[in-house]
Amino acid sequence: MTWKSQLANSIITPEQLAKRFGIDPEPLRAVIARYPLRITPHYLGLIERPGDPIWRQCVPDPYELAADDLPEDSLNEDSFSPVPAVVHRYPDRALLLVSGQCAGYCRFCTRKNRVGTAALAFSAEQIAEGVAYLAATPGIRDVILTGGDPLLLDDDRLEEILTSLHDIPHVEMIRIGSRVPVTLPERITPQLCQLLARFQPLYLNTHFNHPRELVASSVKACASLANAGIQLGNQTVLLRGVNDDAEVMQELCRSLLQMRVRPYYLHHLDQARGTAHFRVPVERGLAIIAAMRGRIAGFGIPQYVIDPPGGQGKVLLAENLLEAGETLKVQTSGGVVELPNHQLAARSNCC
Ligand SMILES: *Cc1c(COP(=O)(O)O)cnc(C)c1O
Ligand code: SF4
Repeated sequence: MTWKSQLANSIITPEQLAKRFGIDPEPLRAVIARYPLRITPHYLGLIERPGDPIWRQCVPDPYELAADDLPEDSLNEDSFSPVPAVVHRYPDRALLLVSGQCAGYCRFCTRKNRVGTAALAFSAEQIAEGVAYLAATPGIRDVILTGGDPLLLDDDRLEEILTSLHDIPHVEMIRIGSRVPVTLPERITPQLCQLLARFQPLYLNTHFNHPRELVASSVKACASLANAGIQLGNQTVLLRGVNDDAEVMQELCRSLLQMRVRPYYLHHLDQARGTAHFRVPVERGLAIIAAMRGRIAGFGIPQYVIDPPGGQGKVLLAENLLEAGETLKVQTSGGVVELPNHQLAARSNCC
């Protein structure tokens, strides 16, 4: 199946899910009315049984509508958006949101309130305005294409955007955040690899969360990218009932290294509304990382990070944890920061 026919044949309604798994579609209707559904035939095929780690990531759950006091824009991205398609929070790097669509809508996504909706579907003019902002801001050396998923754009459109960024003298590198190696590996065509290879230095961070996602077609997609000279990294989100287990995380990271994909971040789930059922305590995340030390190459251990509410930026969670309890006291380059433990729900966009 080509990537376009994978998309065309994706599950997007509760009725399709009900037919496939014999479940009651009724409770899912309200969830999907609020947050979009898409599961590619590829990803659907990875589900072994309801409730398993693949299922939990992609099948809507009534818990998404449970009342929580979590904000819709947990990272306060709006206040760091000089123009609609750009998030500029650090001096030297910025996000350019080039696609509002994903090959699958992850139930735990940080941007679940906007992804797959008009709110994240920026027009070509708005993206051009974003590129103009980046071109007019000489401090930016590093541009991260995200969204949504940039690789849902056609090759031609991607080429236009990459060319416009590559032409900015102060942009020294480009990154792409994409989950398609996981959810739509067919998208990684030889043509795409050739196209990306023209825009070096280019880093692609993908988003595997569980060893069962590393099937032959995904392994092949990563090999094609690596053979084209693209540096590959992986951002995992720590998710209850998916990968909140030391053995699972260790196996995931070991297998990624074999695939020439370097584990980069383990994200503590952001606090975004509708994701509280994926929450894992920080202590468990720290224990998972601690269990990996000495058992895998140092560079096979991802950095465990949290993006505290308010958008002050990612904070590493490790030896800098001074105190864990009601609040976490963390040593950062900017001094000691206190984070309210109970609020630290669930980071979650790859991408
Ligand atoms: C995570 C993030 C980046 C990239 O940060 P790195 O730590 O360099 O990977 C850039 N901008 C925003 C807003 C981010 O959240
Ligand atoms: S986590 Fe990434 S792939 Fe999943 S819905 Fe969010 S942006 Fe899309």
